[in-house]
Amino acid sequence: MSEIRQLSASVINKIAAGEVIERPASVVKELVENAVDAGARRIDVSVEKGGLQLIRVSDDGSGIDARQLVLALASHATSKIHDADDLFSVLTMGFRGEALASIAEISQLTLISRTADSDAAAILESNGGQLQGPRPIGAAVGTSAEIRNLFFNTPVRRKFMRTPQTEMGHVSEAFLRIAIPHPEIHFTLRHNDRTVQDLPPVDNWKQRLTAVFGCELAEQLIWIENTDGETRLWGFAADPVCHRGNNRMQYLFLNRRHIRDRSLQHALGEAYRGLLLHGRHPVAFLQLEMPPNAVDVNVHPSKLEVRFEHSQRLYSQVLGTLRSKFLSTDLTARVEQPHRQPVAGPGVPDPGGGESPLSSNSADRTNQSRLHLDYGPRPDVDFGGVVPGRDQWAVSQEGVGVSETVSGEGEFAAADLTDDSAAPGSSSSGAPSMAIRSAADATYTFQGMQAHNRYLITESEDGVLVIDQHALHERILYERFREKVLSGRLEVQRLLVPETLTMTPSEVAVALENQDLLHELGIEIEHFGGDTLVINAYPTMLAKSGAAEVLRWAVDRLITNDGRAERRDLIDDILHMMSCKAAVKAGDPLGPEEITALLEYRELCQDAHHCPHGRPTSLVFTRQELDRRFQRI
Ligand code: ADP
Ligand code: MG
Repeated sequence: MSEIRQLSASVINKIAAGEVIERPASVVKELVENAVDAGARRIDVSVEKGGLQLIRVSDDGSGIDARQLVLALASHATSKIHDADDLFSVLTMGFRGEALASIAEISQLTLISRTADSDAAAILESNGGQLQGPRPIGAAVGTSAEIRNLFFNTPVRRKFMRTPQTEMGHVSEAFLRIAIPHPEIHFTLRHNDRTVQDLPPVDNWKQRLTAVFGCELAEQLIWIENTDGETRLWGFAADPVCHRGNNRMQYLFLNRRHIRDRSLQHALGEAYRGLLLHGRHPVAFLQLEMPPNAVDVNVHPSKLEVRFEHSQRLYSQVLGTLRSKFLSTDLTARVEQPHRQPVAGPGVPDPGGGESPLSSNSADRTNQSRLHLDYGPRPDVDFGGVVPGRDQWAVSQEGVGVSETVSGEGEFAAADLTDDSAAPGSSSSGAPSMAIRSAADATYTFQGMQAHNRYLITESEDGVLVIDQHALHERILYERFREKVLSGRLEVQRLLVPETLTMTPSEVAVALENQDLLHELGIEIEHFGGDTLVINAYPTMLAKSGAAEVLRWAVDRLITNDGRAERRDLIDDILHMMSCKAAVKAGDPLGPEEITALLEYRELCQDAHHCPHGRPTSLVFTRQELDRRFQRI
């Protein structure tokens, strides 16, 4: 057995550095966090060769007393906590007292600092942990840390460094993760003597986001805000027209510290479910504020991950807040975004706060139904345990019979589609359609022109709306299917003579294993023997031939899934398929009543703007845009 020995401080620091300092970006993160903790109003970061050659961070914060400089470089030396209890009330970015000691151990470091009540600054140098100083030097109040030749004495780590350009990418990201949630601080970032970022102090968060990401993205941001107990959630979620191929534009901050949290990221993805195409990721900037004792930030060396006391509740808060915001927001895709001048919104009582200029114009326009239909209470729709705010949904059963009036310009009496109205085959034009009853006093004005038997062209408040009839009908049916399935009110058509269906043995097995799930979706099957199944009943909203097709598709889906997807996701996928099957197709001619019916139902959709697969159902050509193109303005 070999002898047990106490490791030297130098080895301990190198081990800690291995954990905390992965690359130049980690140094930037630690130094900038220290500057924020020191109450700086301005923080300048300068980097050469991606930080491999030089990193300099200067601030105008409180400074370090000359007598404490050596201690600042010692391991486990911090001014931010005193005892273990303090760990549960950490409000500063740092608290482990390891960063400076680690950095000093693996680089050549020069620390210059001066407090407000001392006449001169002091300088302390470290060469791989060997200290020189401190001695007096002239400098302004604040701290400047200069790091040269990072990893010079840890060659293995140095070998893992990528090109300066790649390292600079990481540096920029680390810098932004702190600069974004601190709009009151002036931040600059220079690389090889070129200014990469200059972010002057601003008094609302939207302005900081605009400075970093540009006007175009900022214009797509929708303000969200919600308080649940002691937890406040606020920030911006981008309109679904704005999306990315990865999740890097999803920023989550906890008490102004950037964090990653898989559960909350999932909640975000769920909130955009059906609004984005498969494989696309939403853009969001969310802030969480909660008492420090409701979260453990001491579970990850660089504090990127944290542990929430009430993670499930938080999940629901994020999902519910975003969902109900989307429900009350006009998300119609615009053909060309008119350039909107930001207007000041109501202030947010938070130093980093900022109301969205958009929230006062486009983003907050609710689904303005001009119809006066008598809505019944809407059964709760499950959004993962969250019930969105809109409580009026189901259309009244008390229609007053078919009596649409047609006037020359295409003004139709509004149609009231009752719940049992979507029986297949009721269309005068032969396309699957919905029975129609007029509502007493509502009118819906549109230029009833179906183009190419696939697009509906109508007028909206701010322009001309082109609707994809299949996509819209699919969305309408999907929402109705889902609502009925969730409330257990799906009407099924029983077959007097059951339909038989031949499948492979494994398909038969999977279908029978999932009999319950299929039953929930209105498809009732039985084993006929051998490789044959019978369909005894299918959802009324689906044609009989459609039922067999949906069943085959569902079985395929269940086989490829192989137990991986959650039940809810499977149901959702099959609902998508059912609505796609049941919806009018591109190319189906529609009668005026059907067009009216579709437009009517559009007003009642939770999300009329996207088909269940995330494609837009309609595009707006704004009047302003048309006027511009026709050179009227
Ligand atoms: P921690 O931030 O976890 O306390 P560090 O090793 O990063 O540990 O810093 C050690 C101590 O040095 C800090 O607690 C703080 O008192 C002091 N310090 C570091 N950087 C600065 C700075 N830029 N301005 C003022 N004080 C600083
Ligand atoms: Mg620190």
